[in-house]
Amino acid sequence: MKNIIKVRDKEFSLFISFEEIDTAITKVANEINNDLKGQTPLFLVILNGAFMFAADLFKKIDLDCEISFVKLASYTGTQTSSIVKELLGLSEDIKGRTIIIVEDIVDTGITMESMIKQLKEKEVKEIRIATLLFKPDAFIKKYNIDYVGMKIPNDFIVGYGLDYNGHGRNLKDIYKIIE
Ligand code: 5GP
Ligand code: MG
Repeated sequence: MKNIIKVRDKEFSLFISFEEIDTAITKVANEINNDLKGQTPLFLVILNGAFMFAADLFKKIDLDCEISFVKLASYTGTQTSSIVKELLGLSEDIKGRTIIIVEDIVDTGITMESMIKQLKEKEVKEIRIATLLFKPDAFIKKYNIDYVGMKIPNDFIVGYGLDYNGHGRNLKDIYKIIE
């Protein structure tokens, strides 16, 4: 595990080790397993960023559940875009279902709000949100986030599914930008 890495033109330093990530995921999985005991939720994983979190999370989920993958706005550069694309890839009928959205990171909360809005239009029973990372200082919305792996400061990070201009998603640990 290196302490300083370069992704494209930027340098990043080690911020959260996989060991810490794994502990956070176990905590989230335990909460979901307890809260939804006896239910059959549909997990909707937001691609691309959440793929790695999702893969590790589901190994610890012991509910009878369904898992599907959707796509929303992409993120370019180091600033969150305020333009949110529509929900793509949702093929199942979700009316009356309990949905758990699986996201890598909630920053301003704009992306997740748009996701929630589009799911509500489909008359779901309940929506819960599970995010590996949450930046409380950047969050400008009001809704509740049910499951948070870790709260982090408002710095740009890469690794464990999160990218910098498409690169760095394969890193096992999470790195923070060196300004
Ligand atoms: P929001 O709409 O909450 O501001 O942004 C959510 C999306 O922006 C996340 O799904 C993620 O793709 C991206 N994002 C937010 N913060 C970061 C970050 O620090 N690093 C990376 N790589 N992506 C981020
Ligand atoms: Mg994401």
